[in-house]
Amino acid sequence: MMYADLALINGNIITMDSKKLRAQAIAIKNQRIIKVGTNNQISQLINDSTKIIQLEGRTVIPGLIDTHIHVAAFGRHLDWLDLTDCKSIKDMQTILKNKISQTIPNKWILGRGWNEKNFQKNQFPNRYDLDTIAPNNPVVLYNQSGNLCLVNTEALCLMNINSQKVKLLKENTIKRDLITGDPTGILEGKALDLIWDSIPEPDQKDLLELTHCACLKILKAGITSIHWMVLSYLEFSIIKKLKEKGIPLRIYAIIPFEIWKKEIKQTPSHGLKNNTFKIGGIEIAIDGYLANKTAALFKPYNDGSYSTGNLFQSSQSLYASVSDIIQSGFQPVLHAMGDKAVELALEAIEKLMKKTEHQNTRIRLEQAALINKNLIDRTKNKKIIISVQPCVINSEFKTWNAIDNLGSNRARWLFPLRTLINKKILLIGGSDCPMEPLNPFQGIQKIVDRKFFPEESITLTEAIAMYTINAAYSTNEEKYKGSIEEGKIADLTILSIDPTVIPSNNIKNVEVETTIVGGEIIYNKRV
Ligand SMILES: [Zn+2]
Repeated sequence: MMYADLALINGNIITMDSKKLRAQAIAIKNQRIIKVGTNNQISQLINDSTKIIQLEGRTVIPGLIDTHIHVAAFGRHLDWLDLTDCKSIKDMQTILKNKISQTIPNKWILGRGWNEKNFQKNQFPNRYDLDTIAPNNPVVLYNQSGNLCLVNTEALCLMNINSQKVKLLKENTIKRDLITGDPTGILEGKALDLIWDSIPEPDQKDLLELTHCACLKILKAGITSIHWMVLSYLEFSIIKKLKEKGIPLRIYAIIPFEIWKKEIKQTPSHGLKNNTFKIGGIEIAIDGYLANKTAALFKPYNDGSYSTGNLFQSSQSLYASVSDIIQSGFQPVLHAMGDKAVELALEAIEKLMKKTEHQNTRIRLEQAALINKNLIDRTKNKKIIISVQPCVINSEFKTWNAIDNLGSNRARWLFPLRTLINKKILLIGGSDCPMEPLNPFQGIQKIVDRKFFPEESITLTEAIAMYTINAAYSTNEEKYKGSIEEGKIADLTILSIDPTVIPSNNIKNVEVETTIVGGEIIYNKRV
């Protein structure tokens, strides 16, 4: 008789397995799920050495998979000061003072969240308020909306902003004292770019520490696997170091084509053998982003500029690169945001699919944000996976004003998830953290309780599938994870409440109580 190492009993198990939708209990041995069934069935697999989790009716779902996250950027954000609760300049100074006491001189200090409307007499802070506390560290503090920044004198010096340069820059981007003409320390608009040109990239040691913290936060959010959108070679080299540190998070690295070609393609190793780290996708940018109007469109943006965005690839270059990726044994990840870019991607894919050896390749379209009926018909039945970041959908409509910028006829076809699912196109879900919140339930709520073109809302089960079984399929791992089934790896997330029985505008408040990776309890809120 094979007894379980770990058993979860008396629960509400949402399996995401279409053959057996719900169960009461799970038995785990050697990292794998050995039985999913009733309490009675599982109790027969329990002996004295079995560890038991009494679920007391709580809900269990497969470990969540975040299919699009920028871990290094997220780690760097965790180090930022949170100024949202400041009620005065003095409060800001207190938080800064505390940080200074733990920071070596010359190191940059970043923060965000202040709002002068919360301050006494709406007093606007200036660089001297920071200089008294931080004379030796450059300090950059974004306001709540992120469109404006307070910096100290040290930061201004490093940015090379002096009274000479101020005159050269537009008056509204670097604020000046009305009497002396000196910069006040408030920067806006284009001047914010100067900051990012000056802040040095973190070194390997810092980056390792920051990404380690980020991974722990990710696990705490109930996420057991991530698709890590790598931005630099250094970031890529960190992943193996994190694994040496024993981070259990399963990592599928997605690497920009140029970095892969230059620095990684020749390396024989594609990751680790134990399924916890793999170089999987190679990303090609076909166009830019809607938010800065660089996504490539058939017809101009609605701003009177006649601009149709930017295409970074020709048909030939794209086809050559995609073939190279597939022949090297990796997955093509094609960033295509505008309809014109999506068409270019489809053209390359159609050409590839004519070769029988490529017909089973799972190709991933990143975003495919603006699409139309013709493109949707060309997408289906081609093993194309569309990677969606649900919180981005909301931001495109709400913050970017997609309806104004595209016109409502086109905006109607911006992320039409219901239509895509009806056409049997496979969707996967990611956070795009730190640009958007990490919490997967926040993303799920955005597409179930969709505010813009609500006819494109999807069901909760469909949304959970995007973060579980569909995400597993997208990396050829659907036999291994993504649902709670016998034989699969025991990656599980225990929730405070059943998301299927609460109002859809409350989904974001679902809390993760426990995260289990490969049968090990990695995070437990209750202890
Ligand atoms: Zn992203």
